[in-house]
Amino acid sequence: MTKPCIICVAITGSVPRKEDNPAVPITVSEQIESTHEAFEAGASIAHCHVRNDDQTPTSDPEKFAALKEGLEKHCPGMIVQLSTGGRSGAGQARGGMLSLRPDMASLSVGSNNFPTRVYENPPDLVDWLASEMIKHEVKPEIEAFDLSHILQAAKMHADGRIKDTPYVQFVMGVKNAMPADRDVFDFYIKTVHRLFGQDANWCAAGIGANQIVLNEWAISSGGHARTGLEDNVRIDRNTLAPSNAALVKRAVEMCEKYERPVATWAEARDILGLRAA
Ligand SMILES: [Zn+2]
Repeated sequence: MTKPCIICVAITGSVPRKEDNPAVPITVSEQIESTHEAFEAGASIAHCHVRNDDQTPTSDPEKFAALKEGLEKHCPGMIVQLSTGGRSGAGQARGGMLSLRPDMASLSVGSNNFPTRVYENPPDLVDWLASEMIKHEVKPEIEAFDLSHILQAAKMHADGRIKDTPYVQFVMGVKNAMPADRDVFDFYIKTVHRLFGQDANWCAAGIGANQIVLNEWAISSGGHARTGLEDNVRIDRNTLAPSNAALVKRAVEMCEKYERPVATWAEARDILGLRAA
């Protein structure tokens, strides 16, 4: 049987604002409602950032706690993945929410350029975030903005800084970082299988108009798919996406096209080796 496809919904991110698309959920209650719709549409992972009331990004553990609690209540079983990304804070503030013991957290293991700045992930901070994830039994999702990040994850796994087989997300289409390049994408898959085994799971995210492109590449190649308003606010070139759920639905339709069953939350937990909800 074909491997079920896990759909991750990146609901908010740290960049898009209401002015870009009024459907971007900003407050915790908006985030819970938007995630609930996406969960019903087929998403089994919620990738979460939190915002201040003025929409600026924050890493405030209290906001993360309120969101996590709401999601666990309203989307029972759904995998909660909190971002330790660097646009919302600096240094160890980026990992202050890991003691909440979410199922998963994102982990960047190297630096690269972003549209207007350097995305700085110094080695000592990466190691500290990874150690906090081990301490609190949080499964990392490795955000690979570059090939070197996949090899770095392998090194960290080999020497025990990452506990289980790394689950890598290929991120493509961020301005000034890796574009959506099919040959590179295929080499990423090959590298993951060479380093982590033929059964190793991986996923992919594309930014902006690349979102649907990466959904199609991942779903047709046996990977898992990320969608959501964090990465892309449009449903097509001229139309804003009405909701996170609408983007999830588009990924579900892509799974139908390639005859990939959409993973339930229980299947997703099993595939990723996560504790039962
Ligand atoms: Zn994110």
